[in-house]
Amino acid sequence: MGHDPIPLIDLKAQYARLRPRIDQRLQAVLDHAGFVLGPEVGALEAELAQRGGVAHAVGVGSGTDALLLPLLAEGIGPGDAVFVPSLTFIATGGAVLMAGATPVFCDVDPHTFHLDVDDLVERAKRLPANLRPRAVIPVDLFGLPFDYASLSSFASSHGLLVLADAAQSFGGGRDEKPVGGLAPVTATSFYPTKPLGAFGDGGAILTDDEALAGELRKIRVHGQNQSGIAERLGLNSRLDTFQAAVLLAKLETFDADLRRRAEISARYDAALKGHVELQHRPTGAESTHAVYAILCDQRDRVREALSEQGIATRIYYESPMHLMPSMTRFNKDAKPIAVAESLSRRILSLPIYPEMVDAQVDRVSDAVITALEN
Ligand SMILES: *Cc1c(COP(=O)(O)O)cnc(C)c1O
Repeated sequence: MGHDPIPLIDLKAQYARLRPRIDQRLQAVLDHAGFVLGPEVGALEAELAQRGGVAHAVGVGSGTDALLLPLLAEGIGPGDAVFVPSLTFIATGGAVLMAGATPVFCDVDPHTFHLDVDDLVERAKRLPANLRPRAVIPVDLFGLPFDYASLSSFASSHGLLVLADAAQSFGGGRDEKPVGGLAPVTATSFYPTKPLGAFGDGGAILTDDEALAGELRKIRVHGQNQSGIAERLGLNSRLDTFQAAVLLAKLETFDADLRRRAEISARYDAALKGHVELQHRPTGAESTHAVYAILCDQRDRVREALSEQGIATRIYYESPMHLMPSMTRFNKDAKPIAVAESLSRRILSLPIYPEMVDAQVDRVSDAVITALEN
């Protein structure tokens, strides 16, 4: 048995594979010295928009800011309610807090792990009179695009902005449409471990709305227009030119990387089906397989057995958002958020990255199955 450690994701192997392309692009930035909003940023934005099937992409400082800036642009703030699924990375709710608005935590579907629209509708009816419903942020959890069509009539009849948290799903799609064009506004992240990861923080907002894109471009430079006049409140949140250069290099192999992720995921599925519960991926939904999650009651035992064999695992997410200390004061609704709580007790993520070879995938699956049998 080979016992080389298997990391959750191998960024060193990725750089080794892409090194000439990346080094060349980084060197070009050093030479032209356009460090802030240099030409790579515009080139990347054009490519992101094209891949997302939208007219505009705006690069920003992080995925969190990609969620925050559209809320600011729409004037969503104090007194406004923003619906969020509770099983997600803390930034989904954190952006709502940064805007000064109130997160309304919703439960998730036990199979797709996505925002449960029926639960959202119930909570919208129970909203306290001092809160105005303004927006909903569905999350494409683990890279699987949410069913935005299932939400559109409720959202439009209630005047809710639908902001897609596509931090994990850029490159995926649903019903033949790419992530970017599935919701009126889409936020993504280039955090290094995302499927399209930079070498530091970064994010982007995708939209067809030209006026909104214009506002976002102002907000990321202190609210200034192109003549340097601050027309509105803004902040400093630009996508760094070096990060854009890295991303342009990575986009050259991104489609192949996504195909490899899908292969690994399918190989895990085939081996683990019947042994553990898996995220249900509906037909027509194309995941980026950002995270490969399993559900099992004996999670700690599985985790320990894998760790003994040098196999890294992670828990996404240790706690649903509404139980995080920074969020509990907003968790006012008496209706339980039971599915998110139960999932967070049973969920475990296994290694997945394009450089992973089949033998490693098999070693992980075998280790999981053996641990469950013991
Ligand atoms: C990573 C992530 C974010 C935040 O992105 P950053 O670039 O780290 O700020 C937001 N939402 C989800 C679901 C994420 O996975």
